[in-house]
Amino acid sequence: MRKFFFSICFAAAAAVAADKPNVIFILADDIGYGDVGCYGATAVKTPSVDRLAKSGLRFTDGHAPSATCTPTRYSLMTGEYPWRKKGTGILPGDAKLIIDPARTTLPKVFKQAGYTTGCVGKWHLGLGDGNLDWNKLIAPGPNQVGFDHSFHMAATGDRVPCVFIENGHVVGLSPDDPIEVDYLKKVGDDPTGKEHPELLKMGLTHGHDCTIINGISRIGYMKGGKSARWTDENICDVFTGEALKFIEANKAKPFFLYFATHDIHVPRVPNPRFVGKTAMGPRGDAIVSFDDSVRRVMETLENCGIASNTIVIVSSDNGPVIDDGYADGAKEKLGDHKPAGPFKGGKYSLYEGGTREPFIVSWPGHIKPGESDALVCQMDFLASFAAMLGVKLPENEKFDSQNVMPALLGESKKGRDVLIEHTTPIAIRMGNWKYIPFPKGAELYDLSKDPGETNNIIADHPDIVAKCVAEMAKIRDGRDEGLPVGAKGAKKKQN
Ligand code: CA
Repeated sequence: MRKFFFSICFAAAAAVAADKPNVIFILADDIGYGDVGCYGATAVKTPSVDRLAKSGLRFTDGHAPSATCTPTRYSLMTGEYPWRKKGTGILPGDAKLIIDPARTTLPKVFKQAGYTTGCVGKWHLGLGDGNLDWNKLIAPGPNQVGFDHSFHMAATGDRVPCVFIENGHVVGLSPDDPIEVDYLKKVGDDPTGKEHPELLKMGLTHGHDCTIINGISRIGYMKGGKSARWTDENICDVFTGEALKFIEANKAKPFFLYFATHDIHVPRVPNPRFVGKTAMGPRGDAIVSFDDSVRRVMETLENCGIASNTIVIVSSDNGPVIDDGYADGAKEKLGDHKPAGPFKGGKYSLYEGGTREPFIVSWPGHIKPGESDALVCQMDFLASFAAMLGVKLPENEKFDSQNVMPALLGESKKGRDVLIEHTTPIAIRMGNWKYIPFPKGAELYDLSKDPGETNNIIADHPDIVAKCVAEMAKIRDGRDEGLPVGAKGAKKKQN
């Protein structure tokens, strides 16, 4: 009887495992299509990302929802195009939370299916509901939009406050040294990069000249919290360590881990063990650091015995940027490396380099290794995993997320027919056609023949343009509160 009982338990556990694989989404920051080996890089070695690609599906037309951080993250969390909602642009570090805690989110979909959910790394979606006190419970935040556990930075590495937050509390904060943050006026006595450039260990090219922390000046002013301040050289190890802890703690039950690395966003200050690993300076070395995080996650899955029961997705939140405000030699040491691969543009750009990313989906034994040119977007994870896990999305909420799970699993070659790409303005992909209504003059490309968007053929195809314009109008359909199609470009400084 006892033996019988155990075998039933084992069978049940196996069934649950196949129905409910763990899911880890590793989201890099500012890594471009051409920045990793399996997408063509040779000046930097990324053996762990390459190994993952070899064991899974490597997408060649996989996209972030936007060409910058905050809108991409808003969209992948909510399944809604970022341009539908005002206030989803790049946020300061003291912005309030921009996700309505009442709405359906990606982590909530997993929770509804019985998963434990974790958020580790970069957040950059705002915290609190205005006038946040960093010394008390910081909420609403990740834990109020669907994560059981969170360990994160508020915004970015180049923005104050330079501290980690665990489940709503600043880690290592001393009550007699409270934190104060201001993005408009100086607070406290810490020197600023503007006043004391001689104190900086990394020079500036634009912006980033406020409070100096760890020898690096930031966007925004910060006072106090000295015992809680991070050391940039250790951010990668702190976040990766927290991700591994979450995996180990939850290995016996289905979990979803959103692991959003700080690598390779500025300031690029890799741990000393990665310094000099490439000839490209800190930007190249930060890619090596990212690859090492992927290695450690994969090794931990093996060690926990759950590698074959875990879907691992690796992608990036927007295209590459070379000079993003700090004088770290990225431009001078770039050499022949092509951060966006064969594509034009990068971070902040509406050309393909802005949103087309490394995009790898691995599930050993379930996904046949290979390559897919299906058009897919990170925004689609919400509807795709909802469909896979049998979670019904509420009818009173609208989603732009589409179920592309057959494409993600390699069962179908077909993803989306249409995708809106975003900075401001927005562009549309209809199959291989790409229409960009720049205010200075619209452009049309046939990406099947011209992936680098070099030959504007708008004059030759009024019929295609009419279709693109009509489709864009249909998608907008009065639902968005957002920006006119011809709105001015995103702010380029201080990102
Ligand atoms: Ca980014």
